Amino acid sequence: MTLLKGKVALITGGSRGIGREIALKFAQQGADIAFSDLAVDENFASLEKELADLGVKGKGFASDASSFDGSEEMVNAVAAEFGRIDILVNNAGITRDNLLMRMTEADWDLVIKVNLKSVFNLTKAVQKFMLKQKSGSIINMSSVVGVSGNGGQSNYSASKAGLIGFTKSIAQELGSRNIRCNAIAPGFIETKMTEKLPEAVREEWIKTIPLRRGGKPEDVANVAVFLGSDLSSYVTGQVINVCGGMNT
Ligand code: NAD
Repeated sequence: MTLLKGKVALITGGSRGIGREIALKFAQQGADIAFSDLAVDENFASLEKELADLGVKGKGFASDASSFDGSEEMVNAVAAEFGRIDILVNNAGITRDNLLMRMTEADWDLVIKVNLKSVFNLTKAVQKFMLKQKSGSIINMSSVVGVSGNGGQSNYSASKAGLIGFTKSIAQELGSRNIRCNAIAPGFIETKMTEKLPEAVREEWIKTIPLRRGGKPEDVANVAVFLGSDLSSYVTGQVINVCGGMNT
């Protein structure tokens, strides 16, 4: 399993959920892994251990992806520690769902800052290293609701749609330098983010999915492996839905 041998990946929001699974799948393919999350907690130590057990270098960095200066500092620290950055996965994200009528300005601002501005922060900080290396793959975690919208999630959908525009623009801007940029649009994936949904809502969602099941973090991570590896060397500016056929 050597699809990512010799590559270094940085994954934001990597200590749990989809990001953690991406870290582990990348490591299984031979990549060294830097991951970031808001604070050092027990997930940091357990992930670092799992990565070491897989025989790769793995290190967690406490960093708020929505902070411009903090992100640049963290990216510089990752480059100093690992020597290069080949893959950036902009995975950190949050929800603050509500109908527009009840949505506060603070909930709008926070979701845009964490889900969208973070992608600008990290991509800008990483690009100088990728430009020097003359290669790179950037993977942005969007959502099916960024493609199709969803009542009660106008802030989240707007952030995830904005991220698709950013992805396509960066693909056009950096393609000539052999830096690729793609987005993944997961559907309903079973993680902490979705476990707060009531069982009835969950069942209704699943009825709308042609494959009749919620996705697993590894379903998303497998597509991230493809986009991070040279298997996708002629793929850029694309949005890949990983949604069991929900967005069809
Ligand atoms: P999760 O809540 O389990 O994990 C998200 C991680 O991001 C957490 O570890 C959290 O601490 C971290 N994080 C939050 N804010 C951060 C910040 N400012 N800086 C750094 N880290 C931060 O969520 P998940 O389900 O694993 O989602 C991962 C990504 O996939 C998110 O961008 C989410 O929007 C997207 N997504 C998830 C689903 C789903 O159904 N679970 C569907 C579509 C898209």
